Amino acid sequence: MTRFNTQLVHGLPVNDNNTGAVNPPIYNSSTYAFESVSAMPRWDYARSGNPTRDFLERQIAQLEHGTRGFAFASGLAAIHAVLSIFKPGDRIVVGRNIYGGTYSLFNEYFAERGIEFESVDTADYEALDAAISGRNAGADGDGRCRRPAAAVYFETLTNPLLQVNNVNRISAIAHRYGAISIVDNTFVTPYLQQPLDLGADVVIHSATKYLAGHSEVNAGLVVVLDEEIGRKIYFAQNRFGGVLAPAECNDVRRGIQTLALRMDRQQSNAESVAAYLLAHPLVRTVHYPGLHGDRNRLLSENGLRGFGGVLSFEVVPGADPAIVLDNLHVFRLAVSLGAVESLAELPCRMTHFELPREERLKVGITDELIRLSIGIEDATDLIEDLGQAFDKAYDALEREGSALVDFSRLTTVAA
Ligand SMILES: *Cc1c(COP(=O)(O)O)cnc(C)c1O
Repeated sequence: MTRFNTQLVHGLPVNDNNTGAVNPPIYNSSTYAFESVSAMPRWDYARSGNPTRDFLERQIAQLEHGTRGFAFASGLAAIHAVLSIFKPGDRIVVGRNIYGGTYSLFNEYFAERGIEFESVDTADYEALDAAISGRNAGADGDGRCRRPAAAVYFETLTNPLLQVNNVNRISAIAHRYGAISIVDNTFVTPYLQQPLDLGADVVIHSATKYLAGHSEVNAGLVVVLDEEIGRKIYFAQNRFGGVLAPAECNDVRRGIQTLALRMDRQQSNAESVAAYLLAHPLVRTVHYPGLHGDRNRLLSENGLRGFGGVLSFEVVPGADPAIVLDNLHVFRLAVSLGAVESLAELPCRMTHFELPREERLKVGITDELIRLSIGIEDATDLIEDLGQAFDKAYDALEREGSALVDFSRLTTVAA
């Protein structure tokens, strides 16, 4: 068996023609001819399956150490398909801090169709145990005894505060009560963690982000271990029809080939940027795992090989985060993440604006919080870009004569 980096490049070869093409073909065909009425072909209709999609689905199943993969037209289409395997009356325990679109899909769609969601702090194992077991169901913790949850759903790293969720421990608690463990692995990818190896049952990706990696496509992927779960997800893929088109399957496949190279650079850039931010007087806090404490222990305890390329930070009170963001030139002001180019955004106004302010503050997403998705540029350019934007915010502060900033510490650091 080949190793991970080789698998990224080659996938599982199809060798279905004799042209010698080194890449799997993009089959632009919605329908496939039968040899005869009685001979059922391998492919008949492209929604049900096609060779280009099959290549990508087998590739992601191999990379995530699963048995079966599925490609969808977006991350949310993938999440919709996974959630469709549940029935009215099922309870799903959800990590407190999840992607806004997922939160909305759960609470504004599936909740109206009889699935119950209960949000918990997935780092509080006692609360998680109580919620999954049904001992403490209901948002108000009314103490009524209900049946165990059918699933727990969470993200490997929370967005935008980058708290680490321990797949192993969370999945073990789920399994204690017969619930399955569903992990959105978008922020770290199989390069940094394979949740199925750590006890998860279903892995989901917004492949729009790191896997495709170039801000060109929306795509979603699902990988499962269990045959029965796989059968249900295939039904959803084929019947809802939110499938990824062949050309986009090829975009994701090509992105995956360079995943390790991109992620290595993104992580080392993220570490440089985080170190710069930590030392900057206009920055109050930096959120990137392992900055405070034993980084290697945090990695090994959580079965991770790295923390990815997203980080966030708060500017000091009085400094205007909008001035910082509006003056960036290398960083583009945009939502999304995981691509080759660096992006910056203001969660309270952009990615997380749907969350009521009070809810937002409760999970720690303040009005001063800026999220960065670090790309593969030169770290020095990223740092200089931030530095000159901080200078603008500092000038504005000084004009207002704010007493909140220790100006003696302010130096534009070029690393
Ligand atoms: C972007 C994202 C999604 C949604 O994926 P789309 O491809 O935009 O539909 C889901 N989960 C996470 C963690 C994401 O970052």
